[in-house]
Amino acid sequence: MSVKHVLTTCPYCGTGCNFFLQVADGRLVGVVPCKTDEISLGRLCIKGYNAHAFVQHPDRLKHPMIREGGQLKQVTWEQAMDRIVKEVTRIREKFGPDSIAVLASAKCTNEENYLIQKLARAALGTNNVDHCARLCHASTVSGLLYSFGSGAMTNTIPEFDNAECILITGSNTLEAHPMIGARMLRALDKGAKIIVVDPRETPLSRISHLSLHQRPGTDISWINGMIKIIIDEGLVNEEFVKQRTTAFDELKEVVKDYTAEKVEATTGIPREKLVEAARLYAKTEKAMIAYAMGITQHSNGTNLVKAMANLAMVTGHIGKESTGLNPLRGQCNVQGACDAGGLPNLFPGYQRVDDPESKAKFEKAWGVQLPGNPGLTLTCAMKEAMAGKLKAMIIFGENVMISDPDLGHLEEAIEELEFLAVVDIFPTETAQKAHVVLPAGCYAEKDGTFTSTDRAIRLLRKAVDPPGEARADWVIACDLGKRLGSPGFDFSSPAEVMAEMASLTPQYAGIDFGRIDKQVLRWPCPTKEHQGTRILHTQKFTKGLGVFAPVEHAPPMEEPSEEYPFILTTGRNLFQYHTGTMTRRSPKLEREAPEPYVEINGSDAKRLGINDGERVAVSSKRGSITLKARVTDRIILGSIFIPFHYAEAAANRLTNAALDPISNIPELKVCAAKVAKA
Ligand code: SF4
Repeated sequence: MSVKHVLTTCPYCGTGCNFFLQVADGRLVGVVPCKTDEISLGRLCIKGYNAHAFVQHPDRLKHPMIREGGQLKQVTWEQAMDRIVKEVTRIREKFGPDSIAVLASAKCTNEENYLIQKLARAALGTNNVDHCARLCHASTVSGLLYSFGSGAMTNTIPEFDNAECILITGSNTLEAHPMIGARMLRALDKGAKIIVVDPRETPLSRISHLSLHQRPGTDISWINGMIKIIIDEGLVNEEFVKQRTTAFDELKEVVKDYTAEKVEATTGIPREKLVEAARLYAKTEKAMIAYAMGITQHSNGTNLVKAMANLAMVTGHIGKESTGLNPLRGQCNVQGACDAGGLPNLFPGYQRVDDPESKAKFEKAWGVQLPGNPGLTLTCAMKEAMAGKLKAMIIFGENVMISDPDLGHLEEAIEELEFLAVVDIFPTETAQKAHVVLPAGCYAEKDGTFTSTDRAIRLLRKAVDPPGEARADWVIACDLGKRLGSPGFDFSSPAEVMAEMASLTPQYAGIDFGRIDKQVLRWPCPTKEHQGTRILHTQKFTKGLGVFAPVEHAPPMEEPSEEYPFILTTGRNLFQYHTGTMTRRSPKLEREAPEPYVEINGSDAKRLGINDGERVAVSSKRGSITLKARVTDRIILGSIFIPFHYAEAAANRLTNAALDPISNIPELKVCAAKVAKA
C-alpha cells in the first residue's frame, strides 16, 4: 500500500488552517494536523478533522448532464459545453451581454475566480459577475473602503494571542471560526479582557468579562453610545484623531444624542454595562475588535461597518500590533474571491471597472474591449431575473437555493431564466434547477490558492484525482472562454493563472507559487522581494486619512408586529458549514447536528406552551418552515435563532430580501416571525 501526506488548506471557514490529507492507494483516508502551520499550530476544529469525509461521497457529480424532458441526463463534455455556448451566444445576440450573469465562488480558488470574472468580462462582455460575499461581507468592503480605503482584517490571526482586550460582536467565533476562537482563549489565559456583544449567549460570551445582549438590529445605537462615553470621559486618542483622521466634528455632532439611557431603551443593554465596556475598550492599549455577519447582514450594513471603524479610530486602536479592526470572513476563499475581482464593480485588486485607466489596463492585457459600466450584484441580478430582464446565468460553486434570502421568490426568479448552467461538486438544490450541470473537482483534487480572512495567500495541493469525468473549475472556465472565442484562456496550470493575476493586481504583485510554498505572505505584497504585510494602516490609512462617518441608528426594515411578534436571526453551528453541501455528507459532522432547530427563550416557550424538542412552525410574511424547538436561555426574550444550513427547513424561506442601498447586502439577520406548535 502506498501512503502519502499532502499539505493543503482547509475548505471550510476563512481561518485558512493548513493540514495534511492522508492518501492511501489513491484514496483519501484522513486528515493530519500540521504542527508548523502558524495558524492552526497543529490543531484543528472538528470540521477540519473531517475535511476528507465528503470528497469520496457517492453523491459526487461525475459526469456532465443536460436537462431533457424535465430530467437531467448524462452527456459528454462536448455536448454539455456545446449547449452552454449555443445558449449564451443566442441570448447574448438577442438581448445583449448584460442579459447574462455569472457567479464566481468563495469555495473556488483565487485562480479560478480570476478566470471566472475574466470569462464574464472578456468572453461574455458583461460586468455581471458577483459571488456570495454579497450575502456576507459586501458591507465590510464598502464600509471599510470608505473609512480606511481597504476592506480587510487590519491584523493577523496570531495577533489575537497578545491582545489585552478583545471586543467581539456579531460573531460566534468559537463555532464559526473555531481556531480563531482558540486564539482568543489563549489571550484570555494570558489575562486579556473579553467583551462580547451579541443577542445570543455564545460559548465565548459565557466566559467573557462582559457579555452584553442587544436587541437584533440596534447595533449603531450601542456603538455610538460607546463613542459618546469615550468622548465625554476624555478617553479619545486626541493625537491620533488629529493627525490620522478627518470629519471627527461631524461624528461628535451625531453621537451627542446617544446617551446611555437612550441606548438602553433602544438596545436593552444596561447603561452601566455599556459604560464599563466603553472604558475597558478605550483604556486598554492593545485592543482588537472582531466582527462577522451579525454586523454586516443588515439593511444598514455599510453604516454599521463604518460605525465599527469610528469606534476603532476614536481610540486610535488601529494600525498596531494586536490592535485593530478585524472582519472575520466566512468561507474559505471569500476574501480571495473579492481580491480576484469576483465583484460587479471591481476588477482584480479592487480597481474600478468604470475607471478609464483601469479599464484600459485590463483591455491591453486581455486583448479585448471591456464593458465600462458596473454590473449587477447577485441580489439585484435575482430581481432582474424575476422581472424577465436577466435571461441566463452560469453559476460556479454556489447554492443560491439555500443561501439567499426569501427563497420562495428566489426560486421563481431562477425558474424565470431561459438558461441556467451550474458547475458544482454535488447535485445541490440549485443544480437541480439547471439546464446544464458540469461536475467540478473539489479542493483536494486541484492546485491553487485560497486567501484567508487575514489576507494570507495559502496553497492548495492536489492530493487525489477528481471522480469520474469531473474537472477543476479553472479547466472548465478556460475551456468555456476558448469556446466563446475569447483570447487569453490558454493556461496550463493554476500557477500560470496566478502569474497573470499578480501582474495586474498590485497587492498580489509579489505573489507566486514558489514563494508561498515556502513562507506565509499576506497582501499587500507589491514586489517579489517584499515580505508581505502583517498589519495594515500602520503609518497612514490606505486612503491617506481615515474618515469618520456620522451614522445614525435606523430600525430594521421589518419590526415585530402583533401577527409576527418575534425577531428572527440566523447563523451557523459548529458542525455544519454554509448550505450543508459538504458537511451534511460528512458522517461524523452530520451525526452531531443532524437536523434543523429553532432556539427560543424559556419564558417565550412557556407562554406559548412549547416544550423542548417539540415540533413547531415558524413563519414570516414570506413563508413557513417546520422544525424542532430548542428551549434555551442562550437567546434573549422576544428573539429566535435558526441555523441556515438545513434544506428541509431552510431558514432563508423566512428571511427578508431588503437590501442595504450601498452594498446590496440583504437583511439576513433580522425579520419578524411567529412561532406556533406544529
Ligand atoms: S477553524 Fe476553519 S479553517 Fe480551521 S480547521 Fe476549522 S473549519 Fe477549517
